[in-house]
Amino acid sequence: MPCEVKPRFLVLYGSQKGQAQSIAEGIADEAEERGLVADIYCLSEGGKFNLEKESAPVVFVVSTTGDGDPPDTALKFVKNIKKKTLPSDHYSHLCYALIALGDTNYENFCNCGKTIDGRLQELGAKHFYATGHADDVTDVKLHLMKAASETGSSVLETQSGAPSAVVEASLTCSLPPLSESVLNVPALPPAYLDVTLQEATIEEETSAPVSKETLHEVPISRAVQLTRDDSAKTALLIELDISPGDSLDVLCPNRASEVGELLQRLCLQDQRSHRVQLSLRKDTKKKAAHLPSYIPENSTLTYMLTWSLELRTVPKKAFLRSLVECTEDSGERRRLQELCSKQGSADYNLYVRDPSLGVLDLLRAFPACQPPLSLLIEHLPKLQPRPYSAASSSFRHPGQLHFVFNVIEFPACTWRPTGRQGLCTGWLSDLVNPILLNPRKAQPSTTPTLPKVFVSLRENCSFRLPSDLSKPLIMIGPGTGVAPFIGFLQQREKEREENPEAEFGETWLFFGCRHRDRDFLFREELQGFVGKGTLNHLKVCFSRDTQMGTETKTGPRYVQHNLLLHAKDLTNLLLKENGYLYVCGDAKNMAKDVNETLIEMISAELQLDKLDAMKRLAGLREEKHYLQDIWC
Ligand code: FAD
Repeated sequence: MPCEVKPRFLVLYGSQKGQAQSIAEGIADEAEERGLVADIYCLSEGGKFNLEKESAPVVFVVSTTGDGDPPDTALKFVKNIKKKTLPSDHYSHLCYALIALGDTNYENFCNCGKTIDGRLQELGAKHFYATGHADDVTDVKLHLMKAASETGSSVLETQSGAPSAVVEASLTCSLPPLSESVLNVPALPPAYLDVTLQEATIEEETSAPVSKETLHEVPISRAVQLTRDDSAKTALLIELDISPGDSLDVLCPNRASEVGELLQRLCLQDQRSHRVQLSLRKDTKKKAAHLPSYIPENSTLTYMLTWSLELRTVPKKAFLRSLVECTEDSGERRRLQELCSKQGSADYNLYVRDPSLGVLDLLRAFPACQPPLSLLIEHLPKLQPRPYSAASSSFRHPGQLHFVFNVIEFPACTWRPTGRQGLCTGWLSDLVNPILLNPRKAQPSTTPTLPKVFVSLRENCSFRLPSDLSKPLIMIGPGTGVAPFIGFLQQREKEREENPEAEFGETWLFFGCRHRDRDFLFREELQGFVGKGTLNHLKVCFSRDTQMGTETKTGPRYVQHNLLLHAKDLTNLLLKENGYLYVCGDAKNMAKDVNETLIEMISAELQLDKLDAMKRLAGLREEKHYLQDIWC
């Protein structure tokens, strides 16, 4: 089966009475039988392994002794990892699983394992399999599932006189009642595409998309890192030489490594330059079946996988249902059926949707599953360009458009042991790396060639400044949500310069981030707007700064808390002075919380019950006085 297998892994044990050692040895033996090489050491043999440089998966088996103490052989190791001087990313390269042994009769059950586990997490290490807490009291079999290989090619199962682990469900493993349920599985989606691959005579370019009619290829003139290196998120500002719009769509390719892995997984690497010819199956039962218009005729297989299909999309249940038919392995068939069934909805959400698994992650987890190319084309959607809001105004930057984004980071999980970045934001981040300006670092002395991106511009007719300059503006944009307001304020500044006699409405901006010193985006520019009177009220809150000087922080944590502090002024501006309220940024949490807070504020201010306050807010939305530019 073509899948990437890490041949070596490391087993470390901390044993008092030999139990942890014997389990660790059992794991190593089993692994070797399955073609993996296991290095096994006691935690006291510090000179023989080096976790600081370890790139293979590590399995820890540790017992607990006394009143929750580490076994003697693990004392030094525990002491070392507890050192406060270690940076929070000390073990960020490390991918591990841990079995903690203990006795439920003691209060500090599995304490040593829990301590090591917690500390490894604090130091950035990632689980590749959920921690097992084993109980010495009962004497039943221990399962350590999918323990060693990055791609999940091995299942280790240690049996006999060993203590029992709390077996946990995972993407590939279910527990009762689900594993014993009768399942309601959706109907098999009818196949509708025939695919043939034809040898191409000319090598095709895959570095650029073909449909360039609506796309502009533009140089990135400047890229700046706005956050400090120790910030939880990395925010980048990109400046393009292009006539401005309100927002833009960036078309990014799928990663070459993922395209390559998929080709290999489908056993199609030798046909990567073949042309894909699609036709509708004559006998298809699918209603209104049609060829996907976003796959250009005669494109090569590599081109199609690079520019046409969204490989990262979370596979829908219908896709999982179809995959059932592509594996002969009864365990895989059952688990895929469970994941797409009504009864398995919670598992689907937990193991597929929430960790944002893609088709490749899924195929790694189900190695016997061999779908045909046609199935992927039927189920993977079009690769969508990513929209970004403009963070600049043509008044200040004619011929330019700036945008700001966070590089999305997906944490590692069992089937994605190394973690990954968002498709577009990771790609942009790599692309601008040679020209990236980091105000806190020395800049490159040479001038590299400017990278280019394919973009299309978009107009947003409603999320704009009102034409009536005298209307008050309330802008709410934490994190990268501040982007359009930078453009608004640049425009307002110019309007103030050009209309010195005009009456301008009050301007408020609510911004929020984690730390004042790490991720306060556009700090100087915003303070500059305040200095010039363009921005009358800048309200900022920091969600993770617990100490302000020597005093404990008591101020607002999130933007909505700050809104409440100014509820009277804001409702007055909005309801009595006919102001405009803009919200930009995260739709899932922030925009929802702000909406709830606005209802609360209106309800309190106008003495309305919740339903009437909601109606009043809906009215403001309809009149386009409450505007949102939000995304998930
Ligand atoms: P993908 O690989 O596509 O993964 C994104 C998916 O990851 C999301 O669907 C979500 O389910 C999940 N996810 C997990 N964590 C996060 C997280 N922290 N943030 C987002 N998604 C997460 N983004 C900006 O940074 N700046 C902007 O100005 C901006 N403007 C937008 C305007 C509009 C109208 C819309 C619709 C979106 C805007 N976005 C903006 C979001 C942007 O288009 C992308 O979705 C985002 O940059 C992630 O793209 P990606 O390809 O890197 O991630």
